[in-house]
Amino acid sequence: MAPDIADPSVDPTSHQCSSNTSTSCTAPSVVQQRIVSSDTKANLVRSKDDNNNQIEPKENATSEEFRPQIRWPDFFAQLFLHLGFLIGLWYLVTLQAKLYTVLWTIFLVWASGLGITAGAHRLWSHKSYKAKWPLRLLLMFLFTICGQRDAYTWAHDHRVHHKYSETDADPHNAKRGFFFAHVGWVFLTPHPEVVAKRKIIDMSDLEADPIVMWQKRYYIPLFALLVIGIPVLVPYLYWSENVWIAFWVCFTVRFTTTLNIAFFVNSVAHMFGNRPYDKNISPVENLSVAIAAMGEGWHNYHHVFPWDYKTGELGSYMFNVTTGFIDAFAKLGWAYDRKSVSPQIIERRAAKYGDGTRFLTDECAHKDPVWGFGDKDISKDDLDEIEMLQN
Ligand SMILES: [Zn+2]
Ligand SMILES: [Zn+2]
Repeated sequence: MAPDIADPSVDPTSHQCSSNTSTSCTAPSVVQQRIVSSDTKANLVRSKDDNNNQIEPKENATSEEFRPQIRWPDFFAQLFLHLGFLIGLWYLVTLQAKLYTVLWTIFLVWASGLGITAGAHRLWSHKSYKAKWPLRLLLMFLFTICGQRDAYTWAHDHRVHHKYSETDADPHNAKRGFFFAHVGWVFLTPHPEVVAKRKIIDMSDLEADPIVMWQKRYYIPLFALLVIGIPVLVPYLYWSENVWIAFWVCFTVRFTTTLNIAFFVNSVAHMFGNRPYDKNISPVENLSVAIAAMGEGWHNYHHVFPWDYKTGELGSYMFNVTTGFIDAFAKLGWAYDRKSVSPQIIERRAAKYGDGTRFLTDECAHKDPVWGFGDKDISKDDLDEIEMLQN
């Protein structure tokens, strides 16, 4: 379970990139610099033994020192949810749950999912568009139904994930394996680098959003009401569903389904797919995740252009329901300042750094990662382009 910070594509002793794609890059990226500094520290610490003799520095010294501990309350919460999922599934496959209960559950998964994708992700994590307060309020309620912590905490970790992607500081670093990236990170103590980087990521915009801070403050009663109370009581009160069945289906099955779809973005969409926009990062384009997560499976694109409110290049709403949702509210005037990327910039980027699934290329580079619009490291060219395109 020890985290692996030694990216084989990075040679800390030079500015050359030695990936398995026989390519080269011109300058060290932020990621490379972080890994270099981490290894340098290890070298300094271990370069001499007790007798002052020179010794070979051990690889991944920083990582070896960290042993994650299980956070038992979080572990048992996950265990309960996933066992509860099986119980609820049994009520569904044996047709003991009423049809309206099934439809209600599907509706809740879909509606609360938009709270994650259009709310916690594209709006609050990435500032990829702006929303007037009625839409923010709606998204806050929808997001709360998911039960995936408050939007501030969710966005906080997500910004750290983008800014320090696949390093020790990434909360669900996919280099630590599928299970860790999927669910392990939820019940294991975070790497000290995660804790350190959480402290320096800019969250001032969300601290100034009264709706976000209100939800954070009253999260526990809101959880009781919106994650358990209303989902379970509506079937019981309105179509006389057995309250026990309503609990296992409308709470645990629903909760665990949404949770795992979100987890798939961190695991599957960092492992299985192609990399048209940057072949040197792990995030991939994955159609299945895009369908399940309403447009969030275009993850290679999203990590390269995290300020794009569409989180993907495809214009089709069928594979990006969330974009359709935001565009619909833009017509109402509740969503505005939608940031995007021009086809020319996408083509240039894909031709230069992509894996060739769109354009053939033999170049390689790794741009400085940013967490979204508002990150001080976003390039001037990108800022000018965003300003030109947004409406
Ligand atoms: Zn993101
Ligand atoms: Zn990611």
